[in-house]
Amino acid sequence: MSWRIAVGGIEHETTTFIPDLTPLENFSRRTVRGDSLLERGDANTIVDGFVKGVGQCGMQVVPLLWAKGDSGGPASRDTFETLAHDLLNCLSQSLPVDGVLLSLHGSFAAEGFDDGDGEILRRVREMVGPACPIMAVHDLHSNISSQMVEMADVLMIERTYPHVDMAQRAMETAHLMARTLAGEVRPTMAYRSLPLLWAAPKMIDAEAPMSDAVMQLTRFDEKPGVLSASIGVGYQWIDNPLVGASTIVVTDDNRSQAAELADELAGWIWDRRADWQRESLSPESALQLGEEAGGYPVVLADQGDNTGGGAPGDSTEILRLFLERDLQQAAVLYMIDPEAAELVHAAGGGTTVDVQVGGKSHPLLGPPVAMQAEVLSLSDGCFTYDGPMWAGVKADLGKSALLRQRGVHVIVTSRPAQPIDLAFARTLGLDCRQMRYICVKSTGHFRSGFEPIAGSIHNVDSASLLSQDFFQLPYTRLGRRMYPLHDDASVDWARC
Ligand SMILES: [Zn+2]
Repeated sequence: MSWRIAVGGIEHETTTFIPDLTPLENFSRRTVRGDSLLERGDANTIVDGFVKGVGQCGMQVVPLLWAKGDSGGPASRDTFETLAHDLLNCLSQSLPVDGVLLSLHGSFAAEGFDDGDGEILRRVREMVGPACPIMAVHDLHSNISSQMVEMADVLMIERTYPHVDMAQRAMETAHLMARTLAGEVRPTMAYRSLPLLWAAPKMIDAEAPMSDAVMQLTRFDEKPGVLSASIGVGYQWIDNPLVGASTIVVTDDNRSQAAELADELAGWIWDRRADWQRESLSPESALQLGEEAGGYPVVLADQGDNTGGGAPGDSTEILRLFLERDLQQAAVLYMIDPEAAELVHAAGGGTTVDVQVGGKSHPLLGPPVAMQAEVLSLSDGCFTYDGPMWAGVKADLGKSALLRQRGVHVIVTSRPAQPIDLAFARTLGLDCRQMRYICVKSTGHFRSGFEPIAGSIHNVDSASLLSQDFFQLPYTRLGRRMYPLHDDASVDWARC
């Protein structure tokens, strides 16, 4: 009889700088459970990679549930308990299992739990006992805790940004599960948390210095006795003591080697701590840089209003700039504004409407822009991504529209999403390749779809709730001196 491997997950990237709690509906909208997990095809997600990898190894998938919420404020205690209970209930009905594979973001917090992922791992461990291997894969933007490391046998972290290696990392983990159950290896894990805030534009793995960090991982993979090595760049828009970059090394039954190598990798990162920082850049300066570079479209990444990180996605600063400059062949992707979407849907395609666009979620992101907009096209928001990151993944952005005032186009959606490829714009009739100026409310993932068409790319700093300038974030609970906030931040390399 083949080994029975439970597969499931709860994923949420939590920011405490967004005032609203994330409700249960945010998760339940996209929850997949039971056999439906097996029938999803070949999407590039961690759970789909688990399913594929378990099958490749001749093991049996025992599907639990996969609940993925859009990034946002902390889950309420009720939401957390409902999700955790649901997952544990699926697991208890599936027992006995030989191993557990979980997709956990790595920066999930809820009311009462700074370490939501660690708490889920703790409860799963309690249920399956100490002998059953538990392995998890996390987003690159994870804050790893000692509880997470203690409760799991293997934690593996994605290596790419934009994230494109979800299924690959998951398959590797599934293969490691098979080798573990076969008695070929005994995974032994150590980690090191660094007091380091890592700037998002310096996480792009296609460019130095992040490409050097990924090369280090490849070097570590090849060391004798190493089963897996990971770097977590951290998720910085959450105010709790877990924030920070980290390293994880899993060896074959050698605890001291795992600890030494986790520290060696962490030391390599810490020695280069200034390399992971960046200067801030205004949208105006970015436009100027783009003109000087001369390639089009000039892409401005409005990174502080990235809905992928939990921001509201309705900041109007760059839309206003585009209109004031009277830019031609310009587009803003996407303005999250259900009220405006409703209004233009009621007016109908082909009409010209007076509509207040964006700037409604928070005073810092406004005021709304009063547009006299042509309604070029309307959509129910359903489409399928076709770029390298999420090809084949279906999405529903709710009532959406393509608006235009003079040369400036805006795609308004009802649900939050960051533009990661050209597919949704195309369904509305907007060919991004024909634009000269594009604003994307995204930090890095947009590159997967937009880099091939961009003349130049500039991550800019507009007024935002999720500022990329760490000095602007209202931290109160970090609990340690952190670089670059404190020049005297240091690492205590001693281990108990
Ligand atoms: Zn991420």
